[in-house]
Amino acid sequence: MDNKEFRKYAHELVDWMADFLENVESYPVRSQVEPKDIIKQLPEAPPAVSESFPEIFADFERIIMPGMTHWQHPSFHAYFPGNASPPSLLAEMLTATLGAQCMIWQTSPAAAELEEQMMNWLREMLGLPAGFTGVIQDTASTATLCAMLTAREKASDFRVNQQGFYKEPTYTIYCSEQTHSSIEKGVKIAGFGKEHLRKIATDENFALIPEALAKAVADDIAAGYHPLCVIATIGTTSSTACDPVVPIAEICRAHNIWLHVDAAFAGTALILPEMKHYTEGFKYIDSFVFNPHKWMFTNFDCSAYFVKDPAMLVRTFEILPEYLKTKEGSQVNDYRDWGIPLGRRFRALKLWFVIRTYGVEGLQKAIRKHITMAQEFGEWITASPNFELLALVNFNTVCFRLIPSDSMPAEAVDNLNEQLLENLNNSGKIYLTQTRLNGIYTIRIVIGQTNVEQRHVDAARSLIATEADRLLASLNE
Ligand SMILES: *Cc1c(COP(=O)(O)O)cnc(C)c1O
Repeated sequence: MDNKEFRKYAHELVDWMADFLENVESYPVRSQVEPKDIIKQLPEAPPAVSESFPEIFADFERIIMPGMTHWQHPSFHAYFPGNASPPSLLAEMLTATLGAQCMIWQTSPAAAELEEQMMNWLREMLGLPAGFTGVIQDTASTATLCAMLTAREKASDFRVNQQGFYKEPTYTIYCSEQTHSSIEKGVKIAGFGKEHLRKIATDENFALIPEALAKAVADDIAAGYHPLCVIATIGTTSSTACDPVVPIAEICRAHNIWLHVDAAFAGTALILPEMKHYTEGFKYIDSFVFNPHKWMFTNFDCSAYFVKDPAMLVRTFEILPEYLKTKEGSQVNDYRDWGIPLGRRFRALKLWFVIRTYGVEGLQKAIRKHITMAQEFGEWITASPNFELLALVNFNTVCFRLIPSDSMPAEAVDNLNEQLLENLNNSGKIYLTQTRLNGIYTIRIVIGQTNVEQRHVDAARSLIATEADRLLASLNE
């Protein structure tokens, strides 16, 4: 493809992109295809000779589009959002065009320095402690793994990097039983072993019980283990529960344990003055992660990882072969030493475009609107005789279920709710997902898509109510 063709198709694609965003509501939210529907339409072998862009694009529309679930649909209420926004898309076009590898300062000084400043902006916006330094990672899973690895090197005085776990005490890691699965994955990758991850009990609001943590730490010390790291969550994935950071930090300080805060989703809400109380105790934490790629309108991937002591992070990861040496040395940040991959995309650009386009006040307004709509949805659930609210609405996620009568057996209630969720998602009009809280099958609705308006939430309400009535009527037949 020469530049003349590129220009022509690029113009056409921009129109396609704008049309798509304008008409996104006409697509089913959750893709309605069956397993293997897509792959059976793809040739088994790559083409030996060139194909034209119109042919390729026609196949994109015909084969690929029906197999897409639409995360940018305003009625996407599943998981947590993966929000994009127009300024973020524009930045991604430039990032792809520049195609730079931003591994060290010299390989694109502007990328390194913009990243440094965007992390400073985010630190101020969220109200993180002044001394914190940030770096963009691909995902929260990676950032949390980096926290565990740095904690490991700090505790072992860099012996594990040098000689492996040989001669080390047995390290133990702590999180709540509601913690995201990435913590267990990180524990396995970092070499601690799943057996040494302690999942601490939670209270009636699904928040870690500090007394239970203190006891687990004391028991482990008595048994000869070395408590290494605690992962506290602000906004768990199931129900957006918040672990109490202040008492957890006290336990960590008393035993010299690394404290990492995972706020992958809810971290964005910390830009609101009314949410700043969640940062109480943050001056005692060692690291923090949140994903602008979830709720902050910055498309995947963009995870903001903050540390109190960047030197410790860099010492954990740095490696300096001859071919990567530069004369700038310590005046600049070479981000390849701040995480796992060497190659890095220019991700700060989209943050810069997004924050400038919305302004901090614009971001606050959008986030606050989502939270208000969710609170009202929660009130509607509470007021509805057939529905039950199953967790606090701390942010913009509502956990609920249909409960026709107190006499219905637990398993039948679970099945009924599973059926309700399936019917809703099969409609293509809305997409919700489930979790289990206290063993109960729970439907989650997250109101946080970039383009979600009150009318979408109203439509969700009436769809859920109608579908529930239909199911209940069929029970009585
Ligand atoms: C989404 C989520 C993660 C994982 O985020 P990735 O960026 O996909 O790795 C981790 N923790 C919490 C609390 C989350 O909500």
